[in-house]
Amino acid sequence: MQRFETNSPEETFLLAKGLGEKAVPGQIYTLNGDLGVGKTVFTQGMAVGLGIDEPVNSPTFTIVQEYECGRLPLYHFDVYRIGDPEEMEEIGYDDYFFGEGITLIEWAELIEELIPENRISVTIEKDPEKGFDYRMITIEGMDGQ
Ligand code: ADP
Ligand code: MG
Repeated sequence: MQRFETNSPEETFLLAKGLGEKAVPGQIYTLNGDLGVGKTVFTQGMAVGLGIDEPVNSPTFTIVQEYECGRLPLYHFDVYRIGDPEEMEEIGYDDYFFGEGITLIEWAELIEELIPENRISVTIEKDPEKGFDYRMITIEGMDGQ
């Protein structure tokens, strides 16, 4: 397990960018944490680290957004509005999860049963006592750590 503390969106972005630069085909990153904690900021950093120059935002009307213009494809899921894991079947999620791109899933806890054990889990938490922009970022499952 690795633990990082950031004090601005830029720091979170840069941490994720570094991970994007090192990402290898087939990795699945789960992103957990409350609304507004920084999951999309983290995703945007990963995307830039992967060499994606398109703007990345949370997919609003779709569950998954694909970015094919980087070093590796990025499959950005936001499953916040999912009603039933059946919806994941309908979009053929396993082609993404078991493909050669990088899968990143915001609100992964909502579809926990569908996600392979072999994932990199990223948890972002606030601590009100440490200021508005403070975040603790816990990463588990990277290189077996
Ligand atoms: P989520 O996707 O988890 O709902 P967003 O990434 O959309 O959250 O939003 C995170 C918000 O928190 C942004 O407005 C960002 O500027 C702000 N923020 C403040 N401090 C940080 C930090 N240390 N890391 C990430 N985001 C931060
Ligand atoms: Mg988001």
